[in-house]
Amino acid sequence: MQELNDSKVIYAFAPNLEPALTVSSGETVRIRTKDCFGNQIQTADDVLDEIDWDRINPATGPIYVEGAVAGGALKVSIDRIELDPQTASCTGAGEGVCGDYFDAWSTKLCSIDGNELVWSDSIRIPLAPMIGVIGVAPAGEPVNCGTPGSHGGNMDNTAIGEGATLYFPVAVDGALFGCGDMHACMGDGEVSVSGAEVAGWATVTLTALPELALTDPLIETATHLGVIASAESLDAAADRAVHEMVDLLHDRTGACKDELIMLLSLTADVQVCQMVDPEKTVRFMVPKYVLEGLGFTL
Ligand code: CA
Ligand code: ZN
Repeated sequence: MQELNDSKVIYAFAPNLEPALTVSSGETVRIRTKDCFGNQIQTADDVLDEIDWDRINPATGPIYVEGAVAGGALKVSIDRIELDPQTASCTGAGEGVCGDYFDAWSTKLCSIDGNELVWSDSIRIPLAPMIGVIGVAPAGEPVNCGTPGSHGGNMDNTAIGEGATLYFPVAVDGALFGCGDMHACMGDGEVSVSGAEVAGWATVTLTALPELALTDPLIETATHLGVIASAESLDAAADRAVHEMVDLLHDRTGACKDELIMLLSLTADVQVCQMVDPEKTVRFMVPKYVLEGLGFTL
């Protein structure tokens, strides 16, 4: 298995970047990632007012995947997430849902003990490791790693954990994959503007699917397949995700759209990924038994 350290990071996904690593389709890579603060918050004395904001939201990469072509897809299997033992959380003036309450940044460091995050003497939070920033190069202008979009990026989606598989629309040959911003745990919405931010290792398998054309990323879990969509509001993101899923199922199965939307209304879930980044992100998750019943395959 190849390993990629965190000496080469990007702060924007872009089509013209020099690859940090080239892999064959189907290869597995263990990738060292920095936390969303660029590992600049290590002690209680490190304050967000003093960090270098040009080093925020680094993604390790990019990785060129041989066989990935513009107009196709990149399949990314999340094989393993390994976390460093200390996390940092934050909120601040104008940040997150309650930014109106604050006039300065706050940070909180926590340690990981076994399968739990130690928040306080009375609150221990079960770990639910996930990758916040993960994606490929967009077609046009660079997109900074703090912003989500059709290329992926800062989706902050709690479903992107071990065992999940992502499918990204590829805009440039090689895909130029990168990831970072891991969280030890996070609630849907990410209301403070941070999860339990942590550095670590992500082990992923990258497979080129040149025949699969997508508009937005898909996510497959043990039980569901979803469209992940980002837009200027949660309403607009949900609208986009549901329309794309109906179109995908219609195109692949021939089922009528009225029947499909009624079926999805009974079985599928609109779930908030995050509501605090420059674009908001929603996932629309359809149970696999419904897909099987429809005769759907990707
Ligand atoms: Ca994030
Ligand atoms: Zn994060």
